[in-house]
Amino acid sequence: MLKNKLNVNRRQFLAGSAALAASNLMPNVSLANEADFKATKSAKVVIVGGGYGGVSTAKQLRKLLPDISITLIDKNPFFVSCPMSNLYLGDFYEFGNLCFPYEPLKAKYNIDFINTKVMDVDLDKKLVITPYDKISYDFLVLSPGISYDIDKSQKDFFVKYPPAFKPGGEHLYLKKLLENFDGGDIVITVPSYPYRCPPAPYERAALILNYITKRKLKAHLYFIDANERPVINSEGFMKAYYELYKGYADYITGTTVKEIDTANNVVKTTNGDFKFDLANVIPPMKASKLLEKIGFLENNQKWVEVETFTFETKVPNVFVIGDSARTFLPKSGFGANMQGKIVANIIAERITGKKLKQEELLMVLCYSMVSDKEAIMSETSFKINREKNVITPIHREDNTRRESTVKRYHEWAKGLWREMFG
Ligand SMILES: Cc1cc2nc3c(=O)[nH]c(=O)nc-3n(C[C@H](O)[C@H](O)[C@H](O)COP(=O)(O)OP(=O)(O)OC[C@H]3O[C@@H](n4cnc5c(N)ncnc54)[C@H](O)[C@@H]3O)c2cc1C
Repeated sequence: MLKNKLNVNRRQFLAGSAALAASNLMPNVSLANEADFKATKSAKVVIVGGGYGGVSTAKQLRKLLPDISITLIDKNPFFVSCPMSNLYLGDFYEFGNLCFPYEPLKAKYNIDFINTKVMDVDLDKKLVITPYDKISYDFLVLSPGISYDIDKSQKDFFVKYPPAFKPGGEHLYLKKLLENFDGGDIVITVPSYPYRCPPAPYERAALILNYITKRKLKAHLYFIDANERPVINSEGFMKAYYELYKGYADYITGTTVKEIDTANNVVKTTNGDFKFDLANVIPPMKASKLLEKIGFLENNQKWVEVETFTFETKVPNVFVIGDSARTFLPKSGFGANMQGKIVANIIAERITGKKLKQEELLMVLCYSMVSDKEAIMSETSFKINREKNVITPIHREDNTRRESTVKRYHEWAKGLWREMFG
């Protein structure tokens, strides 16, 4: 039974998202003085992180400047997409479809790929430091994604029960746990917003419910949310949980995880203790640890402060994009892709001295499957007025479950991957 069937006040939600965007406009570092840039046509651009932000930057930059040196660095040997990964967990999408090799980027676009972990950056000497090398740059784009905001004592638990909110092997292991699960209690928890991809935990809960109901498993989901309701598409998710999975789940809102008793498999929360046979605790998140090491996260900040429209840090020609940065865009693959393109345009402008037209309207689409057949979606456009330093978000949701939205979801993902790797 679903405990909290919330009525969604759409107006309230819209007001909330507008306030969120406005708050992002306040504390920002000023744009560096362009006269300082000694960029030439032989400029060297290094991009750390070959995820949605990094690959999008590299591709757009090459489109604009055929001759400059572009180096992309990632600790993983190939790209794995988090978007669509819940469909893989739900058992109706191939893991292989989420993976793309980096090597063809060299052959097709002369983008050098180095498979290594970046340990640090020497901002004074303009060097990216890896275990084996020091790589010099003129422009640096950092898009290393998120880290889990957990303490060391919890690390073993999160290896045993991976959150699967980072690209790589975590999804494979969580899927294996799901395949080995033959009934009992599942606990999924959602951290307070902001975290990576607002609808992802709600889509995951729906698809795990879909998985257990399809298999007629004797199982129950305790879905524990630190937020008061689904932070996006609230109406659509609540209707889906209630209409499709009634009796299989308790949705417990406004509840945070206090402690995990790993010896007895119990998640202790502000609203009681929950014993589990399978857990997917999605922990709070913050910017990648690398950015903390570099010194971009001061005073316990969780996300890196960047200039509103350029995503430049306090260090000239060093940009932080994607989920690591505090920006007006929701933490999404689509948002990281757009930021990558904007930063590529800015770098190209500085190298060539020619002004490029920047977008005045940005749009983020979020699709969510609520069963293996139907999806819901939301769309937020951001109208940008650079002169007045104002961003106006307009949010629209389609909370009706539709098969046609599934088709659009697949087309959206394939389109983005084609743009990044095609
Ligand atoms: C389950 C799930 C579903 C999602 N669904 C959607 C969706 O439908 N639509 C959408 O728009 N977004 C979705 N997202 C969000 C999307 O995945 C992220 O917003 C996006 O990946 C952010 O891009 P990024 O470049 O900041 O980080 P990432 O794409 O995570 O890329 C970071 C890269 O940096 C590399 N890296 C990190 N540290 C280092 C280091 N020290 N050295 C070298 N390399 C390093 C990592 O290996 C990784 O490849 C989803 C996320 C999840 C978890």
